Amino acid sequence: MRRKIVVGNWKMNKTVAESRELASGVLAALGTSCSACEVGLAPTFLALDTVRHVLEGSAVALAAQNCHYEDDGAYTGEVSAPMLQAVGCGYVILGHSERRQYFGETDETVNLRIKKVLEKGMKVILCVGETLEEREAGSFEAVVSSQVKGGLKDVAGVSDIVIAYEPVWAIGTGKTASSEQAQEVHAIIRRKVAELYGADAAEAIRIQYGGSVKPSNAAELFSMPDIDGGLIGGAALKADDFAAIVRAAC
Ligand code: PEP
Repeated sequence: MRRKIVVGNWKMNKTVAESRELASGVLAALGTSCSACEVGLAPTFLALDTVRHVLEGSAVALAAQNCHYEDDGAYTGEVSAPMLQAVGCGYVILGHSERRQYFGETDETVNLRIKKVLEKGMKVILCVGETLEEREAGSFEAVVSSQVKGGLKDVAGVSDIVIAYEPVWAIGTGKTASSEQAQEVHAIIRRKVAELYGADAAEAIRIQYGGSVKPSNAAELFSMPDIDGGLIGGAALKADDFAAIVRAAC
């Protein structure tokens, strides 16, 4: 039985003070009601340390939204895996479509980052997903499969990997994939993991859905057999909405 995981991706939102307030609000809204599900928060780099202090003593994990693949050096504006490890991150989101779309990240650079994050003892949330054009052309299976294969190239095992299926056309658009559409792709991803790592690894790996998840659609999405929780953008910026989504996964 896979433990569901719900992670809030705050993207480029919230000052440090606002992040402190939101993290406290999430803890208060969650209460002790849901231990069946793993929960994480991914504030900006700037707010990681502050949010870490708020989360101390709770079961909520700290996550980063990206990281560089070198340990240190002349990479202006970047943050490395050892820095994220030192600040207490348990997870790093990698390959988000906004990183691929606006910052030129590719399966190759995502793969380098994945290997670095795993080497530093943190877990990875690997984001994959097709664009609207790719969906309309019917190539979503090929696209998503090759993102999984490319991202995981030469990665020995997937026990510290969560995959987030995030159709690009559903991110921040208010358009959610239907639970059947999402389930279909989650099953494709699980089959791909089976091909690469065997049946046991495929059965164990958690595959989140992301793309306009809200309190009103979360329960139905999370009830699908291959959907193991969610990566939540917009709705994670409201403590009550995020907590309601978490409860839907419990
Ligand atoms: C995301 O960016 O990871 C995401 C799922 O965003 P939203 O929930 O706003 O669509």
